Amino acid sequence: MTQTFAHAVWIAGLIAWFAIRWPYQRRSRRIAVVSDGRSLADRIVLAAAGVGLSLIPVIYMATGFPAAADYTFRPWMGWIGTALLVLCLVMFHVSHRQLGKNWSVTLEIRERHQLVTDGLYRYVRHPMYSSFWLWAIAQAFLIPNFAAGFAGLVGVGLLYFHRVGREEELMRRTFGADYDEYAARTGRVIPRVF
Ligand code: SAH
Repeated sequence: MTQTFAHAVWIAGLIAWFAIRWPYQRRSRRIAVVSDGRSLADRIVLAAAGVGLSLIPVIYMATGFPAAADYTFRPWMGWIGTALLVLCLVMFHVSHRQLGKNWSVTLEIRERHQLVTDGLYRYVRHPMYSSFWLWAIAQAFLIPNFAAGFAGLVGVGLLYFHRVGREEELMRRTFGADYDEYAARTGRVIPRVF
């Protein structure tokens, strides 16, 4: 695989990512919010994730800046990155479908919110965040530049570590013992093996 092809894979992945999210984003606007856990910090980390996962790589691909941070691309990196990106998109799609009307961009409890514990949610509590991590790792393989390739990991790291504890707190407040029990048998982003 060539570097140009790896970049094309990343761009195709980005388009697919938005295509998967779009219908859910539209629908979620129509469902009333009962409890809103959003804050300014929440918006900032969400923006940071967007910058690291899309803006910085796009600027790099368009301008080659910062070339000083380039490292040598090898075909195997392209294949690993492609495989991870495909896995990411599958998990992203499936987790949206399984979360259904309970999905939202930020931390919110919707009208008639239900605790989802089936499908991917049977194994991990945050499969959508697992897919974000996969995207960030794939990006580092597909874009051989320390700034543009690793920006995704920084962005996702900020979003994930800021949000995951707060999200679980909100779920615990809403679903009480059911959530404690659910959390006891699942992993956060990696399935619990033992
Ligand atoms: N962290 C999850 C969901 C991300 S979407 C994942 O990675 O797959 C964020 C919204 O999903 C939050 O507002 C929260 O209210 C809701 N949510 C998170 N886990 C849920 C679950 N198991 N069942 C129902 N809603 C959930």
